[in-house]
Amino acid sequence: MRIHFGIKHGRDIIWPERCLWCGGPFEKRQKYKKKSLYDFEYRIIWFNILSRVQTIYYPLCRKHNIMAHLLRPSRLLWVSIILFIILLDIHVPWLYLVLLLPIAGYFYYQKHGLIIHTVGENYLELSLPDGKYAEEFGILNSCDTIKGHLLAQD
Ligand SMILES: [Zn+2]
Repeated sequence: MRIHFGIKHGRDIIWPERCLWCGGPFEKRQKYKKKSLYDFEYRIIWFNILSRVQTIYYPLCRKHNIMAHLLRPSRLLWVSIILFIILLDIHVPWLYLVLLLPIAGYFYYQKHGLIIHTVGENYLELSLPDGKYAEEFGILNSCDTIKGHLLAQD
């Protein structure tokens, strides 16, 4: 279970001073950049893609800083594609099991990591695994209004 938060644009996000994955002492802030496309503007020959970008920094301990780096979903996708191409070339069927590693990594990240879902018009939507950390995050950022599936700031 994950809890979805809606943070209003222009407000700083306040993080509990602990690692997001394990609650241990934090050492590094990891950068997370999200770009959401929201419209195409058609022109006669070309089109513009309109997007919103948001970058946030969140606290992690040393170990989870490395894990979060390695297990970032976009990175895992590339790892899978590259592995797949290599495996096609060496023709050893059981080696295809190696592809389970990035898949396992993906589910591990989904369970423990931070996900920014969209950069909306008014809100930034992110989700955290359910638990004490998410609870504290909600209080620190006064996310106490329920808007659809979001626990949002007023
Ligand atoms: Zn940690």
